[in-house]
Amino acid sequence: MDSTDATGDERQVVMTTDCPYLKPCPMFKLFIHEATKHHFVALYCRGPYQQCARFKLRQAGSTVPEKLLPDGQEMPEWWTRSPASS
Ligand code: SF4
Repeated sequence: MDSTDATGDERQVVMTTDCPYLKPCPMFKLFIHEATKHHFVALYCRGPYQQCARFKLRQAGSTVPEKLLPDGQEMPEWWTRSPASS
């Protein structure tokens, strides 16, 4: 949404809400490094989550691959831990 204040200054107003799947999203338990997890949370989950590949599949009623990242890439093995060990 664009807005213009009394001085004619145009600014971009960004309205964000959290992804409705943020708490139960199973992807997060796989990350070994908290920094990597927070990177995706900031880029997608607490921002434009409609652009997340996981969100799109879930909204379409499709199965979401466990290691699918929000950017559509597959999570590298070395980023993950076994779900059984979490
Ligand atoms: S990874 Fe995607 S589906 Fe999961 S909480 Fe973040 S934005 Fe939502």
